[in-house]
Amino acid sequence: MAPGSTTRQCSACYKEIGSASKTCKYCGINIIQKKNLKAQKEKFDDQWAAKLKKHGNSHKIMNCVDLLLHKLELLGFSPMLFITTQRCQHRSTKVFVKNINVQSHPSVPVMQRLYEAVVRGIYLYVHLPIKKLFLL
Ligand SMILES: [Zn+2]
Repeated sequence: MAPGSTTRQCSACYKEIGSASKTCKYCGINIIQKKNLKAQKEKFDDQWAAKLKKHGNSHKIMNCVDLLLHKLELLGFSPMLFITTQRCQHRSTKVFVKNINVQSHPSVPVMQRLYEAVVRGIYLYVHLPIKKLFLL
C-alpha cells in the first residue's frame, strides 16, 4: 500500500478495497484472519517438513487430517481428500472420506484413479470410458 493511499489490494481476490476494511467487499474474506493464517503458514517451511520426516512424525499430520475431516463433517460439510505419496518408484493415493454413503459410492475409486492420473500428469479426455480409467 502506497503512503497516503486509501485503498489496498485484497490478499485473496487482488481487487482494490478500502485500506481500513476488515472484510473484502468482493470476495467476503476476513482480511485479519487471512493475515493470521498467512503468518501461521509461514511457520511451516521446508525445515519444518525435513525435521518432521527425519523423526518419522508424518503420521501426526495425517492424524490432524483425520481430525479436520471429522470436524468438517460435524459442521455439515462432506469433505473428500486425495493424498498421493511417492516412495522410490511407487506412488499410491489414499482417499479420506468420513461420510459412509460417499465412501461406498462406486464413483470414488474412479475419482481416485482420475486424481492419480492428474498427479502423474496424464491428460484425460472427459469422454474417456470409465473402463479405460481403471487400466491407467
Ligand atoms: Zn477479495
